[in-house]
Amino acid sequence: MALHLTFDDGPDPVWTPVVLDALAAAGATATFFVLGPRVRAHPDLVRATVAAGHRVEPHADQHDRHDRMDRHQIRADTDAVVDALRAVDVEPTRWRTPWGLVTDDTRRVADDVGLALVGWDADTHDWRGDLAEEMVVAIKREAPNGGIVLAHDGLGPGATRPGCAETARLIPMAAAWGVARGLTLEPLPEPRAAPATLAFAGKRP
Ligand SMILES: [Zn+2]
Repeated sequence: MALHLTFDDGPDPVWTPVVLDALAAAGATATFFVLGPRVRAHPDLVRATVAAGHRVEPHADQHDRHDRMDRHQIRADTDAVVDALRAVDVEPTRWRTPWGLVTDDTRRVADDVGLALVGWDADTHDWRGDLAEEMVVAIKREAPNGGIVLAHDGLGPGATRPGCAETARLIPMAAAWGVARGLTLEPLPEPRAAPATLAFAGKRP
């Protein structure tokens, strides 16, 4: 079993290096769901993240709500962040949407672009300023046998904390707990060659 730490809304020139240092010190690797403008502003940070053994995947370009967007708007936004990643030699395979919102149009775009949608099992609520100790409690409760942990290495819309220091402080605590549980801390695996949704295409209503 694995504990998949995931970090949204970066790369951030201040906090992503802090998170990367904490992951390295903990011997953990993770997945980062990034924002297009921040990739374009900090391409070297994305390259450093990949070079450290982590995976970098798209979150959004403009961090808008999919339930207020049509299929063409979602596709255009997704193409923008995917293009930003390809410009730094990252080929996206997975996708976490803003706030995890997934509509029928989101699913169609994911299929069209070839991205596997990713949610989470445990929500650290780090964006609202929870302490690392509180986040560990949430992980133990919501992912007792491993799974996907949602956290943030950047400040997105709605964040009510000044920075990501508590998220960095969480990393060694989560890693120590995970290792004691026999969990490996590693990036989300690559999706199967064919998008999982294709296998069920014939059974869809
Ligand atoms: Zn976000």
